[in-house]
Parts: sequence; structure tokens; C-alpha cells
Amino acid sequence: MWIEYCCPQCHATCRQDSIESTDILSCQKCKLIVRIAPQSIGNDRLTRCLVCPSAELFVRKNFPQKLGVWIVTAGLAGSCVAWAWHELIATFAILFATALVDVVLYMVVPNCLACYRCQARYGGVESHGTFTGFNLETHERHRQFLARSESLAGSKKL
Ligand SMILES: [Zn+2]
Ligand SMILES: [Zn+2]
Repeated sequence: MWIEYCCPQCHATCRQDSIESTDILSCQKCKLIVRIAPQSIGNDRLTRCLVCPSAELFVRKNFPQKLGVWIVTAGLAGSCVAWAWHELIATFAILFATALVDVVLYMVVPNCLACYRCQARYGGVESHGTFTGFNLETHERHRQFLARSESLAGSKKL
């Protein structure tokens, strides 16, 4: 099982493999050590986030979102160009190809688990346990929680 997380201290993106056989995560950049709480990982299953106190994770594709957006944008731009050139068949061929690439990628890219609160990602997880797909309500709850704690931290500084 691997984890990719944002270091809580220096915000560097850290990646660590075989996290089931260790009890600490360490940042390669600032050397910050995050202790993995006991029973967080059991039987190749994750019960909670290892970086933040949240126990709410969701199943998502381990696919860079930017790349997905880029493919769709390129497809749309290509079809617009073809449309401008009155190439009707090419227009639809490009749109169809874009959709096809999306579908194929969706099938081949493996799932991973992501934390709602700190965006840490976990891959190579055998079973997703009770975790399900993205839930907007849960996401919203965590977003508001973060916004609140940030504004609280901000007001403390003043
Ligand atoms: Zn760090
Ligand atoms: Zn987290």
C-alpha cells in the first residue's frame, strides 16, 4: 500500500510505499514524522486517514485530474477547429475519440482512496472496506470545517 500526501508542515508532496509495514511517515523534505495510529491499517484495509484525524475517505480513480481536463479540452478544441473547417465527420470523430479515451482510461486506471480533509491518497489497497465514492455533502462538511479552522487561525494571528 502506498500513500501520497501533502506534508502538514512544509506542504511538500510526499510519497511512501509499503506503509502497512511501518508505523511512521516521514517527509523527505523537512523530515517531519507523522506517527501512524495503531489499528489504522488492518488486513490490507485502511480504517482512517493516516495524516489527519479524519476517518472519512472516498474511492476515486488514481488519475491526475489535470490530465483528464486537458484531454477533454484538447478534444473540444480539436472538434471546434474541425467544425470551423466544416469537417462534420472529423468533428464527431474527434468528440467520439475523446469520449473513448476517457472510457478506456476509466477502465484501466486503478482506484485509490482519498481523504476528504487533507487530500492524502492511498493506493494498492486490497479492499476499500466501507468506503464508497465521492459524496458532495461530506466534502462540503470538510471544506467548511477547514474554512472555519483557517479563519480561526487567521483571527488568532491578529
Ligand atoms: Zn515536510
Ligand atoms: Zn486526511
